[in-house]
Amino acid sequence: MENSSSNKNLYVHLFFWGDKMNKYMQMALNEAILALKQDEVPVGAVIVKNDIVIGKGHNKKEKNNSIIAHAEIMAIKEASKNLKNWRLDDCVLFVTLEPCPMCASAIQQSRINTIYYGCSRNDEKNLQIIKQIFSTNNHNKKVKNIINCDYDGCKNIIKNYFINKRKKS
Ligand SMILES: [Zn+2]
Repeated sequence: MENSSSNKNLYVHLFFWGDKMNKYMQMALNEAILALKQDEVPVGAVIVKNDIVIGKGHNKKEKNNSIIAHAEIMAIKEASKNLKNWRLDDCVLFVTLEPCPMCASAIQQSRINTIYYGCSRNDEKNLQIIKQIFSTNNHNKKVKNIINCDYDGCKNIIKNYFINKRKKS
């Protein structure tokens, strides 16, 4: 039993490596660009199930005046609406930035299986906290794979955003 489930994880992992992973990370990055155009911190996310995009989102914190309007939450909301189900079993999330603890909790609650993120926060404490959240069992479901794929462009878009912000202020 244990073996067959780890083989399944391996399948998910390999399935989204290479071209497939690049394709969905690029979609997440395109979402981040939409946020940038609205002068929001540029973070984007995409949720995929059975190789179909079921949710997309970007940061809308300023526009919505909402601290919960992070890219991951927006994508989860759209995916749940499309599936007519809050349970996002066997779904894979692509996000341009390592999630914060609030989004990590939402991801864990939604039963998303695997996360790919495009750039690290370089914050050991954040990584520790989110890994702890992801390892928490939720009715025997937990986030099984957390993969930093260092995707081109994800780091620069956010770095440049803050450099420009500082120049303006
Ligand atoms: Zn967040």
